[in-house]
Amino acid sequence: MKITKIWAEVTHASMYSNYVFVIAETDEGLIGFGDATLDGLEFEVVAAVNNMGSKLIGKDVLEDQLSVDGGGGGLITAAAASGIDIAMWDLKGKALGKPIYQLLGGAIRKKIPVYASFNRAIRDRTPEGFGKFAKELVAEGNKALKCHPFDGVSWRTPLDDQKRLVDEGCDRFIAMREAVGDRIAIGADAHWRFDLKTALYVADKLKPYHPFWLETPIPEKKPELLREFRLQSGVLVAGGEMQTGAEAVLPLLQQGCLDVYMPDIRYVGGITGMVKMNGVLETYDVLISPHNMCSVITCAASLHMAAVMKNFMHLEYHPAEAPWLREFSDRYWDVEDGCFTVPEGPGLGVNLNLKLLKEHPYEKAKPVRLNMLGA
Ligand SMILES: [Mg+2]
Repeated sequence: MKITKIWAEVTHASMYSNYVFVIAETDEGLIGFGDATLDGLEFEVVAAVNNMGSKLIGKDVLEDQLSVDGGGGGLITAAAASGIDIAMWDLKGKALGKPIYQLLGGAIRKKIPVYASFNRAIRDRTPEGFGKFAKELVAEGNKALKCHPFDGVSWRTPLDDQKRLVDEGCDRFIAMREAVGDRIAIGADAHWRFDLKTALYVADKLKPYHPFWLETPIPEKKPELLREFRLQSGVLVAGGEMQTGAEAVLPLLQQGCLDVYMPDIRYVGGITGMVKMNGVLETYDVLISPHNMCSVITCAASLHMAAVMKNFMHLEYHPAEAPWLREFSDRYWDVEDGCFTVPEGPGLGVNLNLKLLKEHPYEKAKPVRLNMLGA
């Protein structure tokens, strides 16, 4: 079975995002799907998918090595290579009639604990709004939530109105805890916004309300500060969602900067890259909680990996940012008793509706990530 075509479709997902889906066709009519979404750089990624995908045309789905090298072009080629890799695994699974987790050695678990991450879904950003939204998510079956409460804070403007903004962020977290009680796990993502002093101040304020972690408190390009924070704060520290490969996390691992690593299957090299990353992280015996912005494709790919990772903690997911996102595919995940189920169909176990994708073409979005990096 030979690959005949690889291309990308850009689909409007919400006011914050457009998805870049990779689609691969074979001479026997099988179609494989991948996700190469990179907010704000959609068409640069499309060009990279076209360029890198062309090298695989004519290759045999089962006989040939189908990994592509994403090195050299930063996040753009990392996303393209990751999306292509996921599509290749989808094709392999479909050609063999097996779900991907079986090709990865078989499942340790099939019920995958997830947490609802809701930065983009919430509209009322008052503490009361956070508390109310948290209650709604718990009523839907969620047992773990993550908020991104520190609007407007930046380590670059420490003399501004920072204390008020930081306190407001803490108040949003505390309102969630008070709304849902102690049995629901709640994490906080700081989006690289703090210096060390602010990060320690926040940790002290939130500790009585036991966050399951504080995520990316300090830019990762300052590993010595991150390590200091981890040692002093007494809270679990998570990060690493934008790292593109196993070698990129080595400085963080060697200096003991994080308790939990959050590789994203869209940047780390797809399933092949995530297998390599998993091996490195397991060697250092740290926790793994994959970052997942949750198109159905990244969600499915991440679930197959979560099924086979020994040090897996829980998987991120995002409540649908727009109603049509549920219609793009023949399967969608809803939380059930705090978990998603690993799909059993061949390949990823989910297929996109190409006609519907074209009905929601690219629209300009607020470039959240590029602003958020702050590093
Ligand atoms: Mg994050």
